[in-house]
Amino acid sequence: MTRETPVLYIIVPCFNEQDVLPSSHERLKQLMKQMLSQKLIDIDSKLLYVDDGSRDDTWNIISLLSQEDESVAGVKLACNSGHQNALMAGLAQAVEHCDITVSIDADLQDDINVIPTMVERYKEGCDIVFGVRRERKSDSWFKRNTARLFYKLMNRLGVDTINNHADFRLMSRRAVLALLDYKERNLFIRGIVTKLGYKTDCVYYDRSARTAGESKYPLGKMVNFAIDGITSFSVKPVRLVMQVGLLFLIIALIMLAYVLTAYFMGRAVSGWPSLILSVWLVGAFVLIGLGIIGEYVGKIYAEVKNRPRYNIDTTIGLDKE
Ligand code: UDP
Ligand code: MG
Repeated sequence: MTRETPVLYIIVPCFNEQDVLPSSHERLKQLMKQMLSQKLIDIDSKLLYVDDGSRDDTWNIISLLSQEDESVAGVKLACNSGHQNALMAGLAQAVEHCDITVSIDADLQDDINVIPTMVERYKEGCDIVFGVRRERKSDSWFKRNTARLFYKLMNRLGVDTINNHADFRLMSRRAVLALLDYKERNLFIRGIVTKLGYKTDCVYYDRSARTAGESKYPLGKMVNFAIDGITSFSVKPVRLVMQVGLLFLIIALIMLAYVLTAYFMGRAVSGWPSLILSVWLVGAFVLIGLGIIGEYVGKIYAEVKNRPRYNIDTTIGLDKE
């Protein structure tokens, strides 16, 4: 591994990003130039765009950029496979060609100006450098607070994540190789990365607003992502159901004692309200329990099928010749 002037691949997953891609590319290109002139990175460094099955002009833009410029490469997934899978596709393609990767969202809401600092940290011996948002003023109140709640919940449930770190991070080649060894289909990359065990560090920045296009993470996708994150890493929800179940058993025993005393004292006519209440409560908890277990069974199903994460349609600008 060369820590001196590493070959850097910046990996950018893009899903219907035609509006924001040209300006993002301009800024990334500028940054690459600057880092090259500072001898921070090797001349073979590239920008790698992963088109996650976009239905707009994204791939055309990527292939045009790549034809014009040797330092631009593209991977086109055959269909939309989701942000995390697109990122994995990019990392898997890049790892053969580079020493370090930086992943960043296409809208560049994360501050690209900390990338040189990330590279510095790598040179000092870190294998993973997390980009961490200092504040989220530019996000809507709703996004800010749901995100905060999410990180809090994850920590409570024992999932080891870095607060306010999304998928903006530098990874060395060996860290990427280690990550690629995680074969699970229910991907929550930022939960895995903290488990790799290599030396890590954080760099801090302020998150800006999306400049063009709209968020590709509407509420539904966000909720799914959160559920994936929790159930892929934690069995606590199942234990919680178990504990609630035990609590209900105790309540049921107390109820039984109450009903028996009432019976022997000859006051047992009115039993219907408590009975119907118990039936409903128990029914509800059985259903909740089943739902949670179903979530895990669903995950096992997905893992057992062992389907490929993505299917690559074309790549451009990645061959060495
Ligand atoms: N993205 C993707 N596939 C998807 C959804 C999103 O590759 O199915 C990419 C998207 O192009 C962007 C990144 O994931 O580069 C993050 O999306 P976005 O900025 O819309 O999310 P937000 O910042 O609103 O959470
Ligand atoms: Mg964004």
